[in-house]
Amino acid sequence: MSCIFCKIIEHKAPAKIFYEDANIIVFADIYPRAKIHLLVTPKFHCSRIMDLPDNLTLKVFETVRKITKELKLHDNFKLVLHNGALAGQIVEHLHFHYLSNQPNVNVKYKTVIT
Ligand code: AMP
Ligand code: ZN
Repeated sequence: MSCIFCKIIEHKAPAKIFYEDANIIVFADIYPRAKIHLLVTPKFHCSRIMDLPDNLTLKVFETVRKITKELKLHDNFKLVLHNGALAGQIVEHLHFHYLSNQPNVNVKYKTVIT
């Protein structure tokens, strides 16, 4: 499989990983468009929201809440999904952009793969 996000999930491509469990990985976007720009990514490979099983869809949003709690961003973040090339999707592995411009937030990455 040539999917770059699957490679990150396997720890076989460089990434700054903020959070990871059995189902979800959260890592830094390489071209950040905000002070904090994370990609909340199900480990299950699919490209569209309609293909993500319900239990994993729930886990994505549970993870969004975990991130929010940890970074104390309760009132200042944006979640973006590009679902399909016409909507701006480039990487064909479903992921949600988690963005915030809150100043003075220290994002501590758990694992950095170089
Ligand atoms: P999109 O598919 O439009 O939602 O955007 C894909 C996002 O993935 C872009 O914001 C890219 O900067 C980001 N990206 C692409 N390759 C990598 C990578 N190897 N590591 C981290 N982020 C990436
Ligand atoms: Zn993939």
